[in-house]
Amino acid sequence: MMYDDNNIFAKILRGQIPCKKVHEDSHTLAFEDINPQAPVHTLVIPKGKYVSMTDFAAKASDAELAAFSRAVLKVVEIKGLQAGGYRLITNNGLNGGQEVPHLHVHVVGGQPLGPMLSRK
Ligand code: 5GP
Repeated sequence: MMYDDNNIFAKILRGQIPCKKVHEDSHTLAFEDINPQAPVHTLVIPKGKYVSMTDFAAKASDAELAAFSRAVLKVVEIKGLQAGGYRLITNNGLNGGQEVPHLHVHVVGGQPLGPMLSRK
């Protein structure tokens, strides 16, 4: 899938749409989800143009790959999620229900999160 420069997270990265920033480094940005599903719901995205985890794992540099994992850890620390636990979600493509075509990990926590998948 071709990267779409007009996706909403590309606009956030360009500063064309505001976000509530949680953490940033040279390779990644973390910000609050606009429609939180739990007391903590933060998104972590790479600054590079990657559609999905499939794309990122195949094409990103080692530095980008490392920075992404460390950024997730940073968010977990900032939000105080270590003790209580948390969930990481990355939706990929159609069956995954991915809505925004720029790789993002949802960091979700702050309360018991229930079953891993919807039973619907
Ligand atoms: P997906 O379904 O692609 O895994 O998740 C997309 C997420 O992006 C959703 O949780 C949605 O609430 C969030 N989102 C969509 N538009 C915006 C926006 O403009 N700003 C922020 N901060 N989050 C957004």
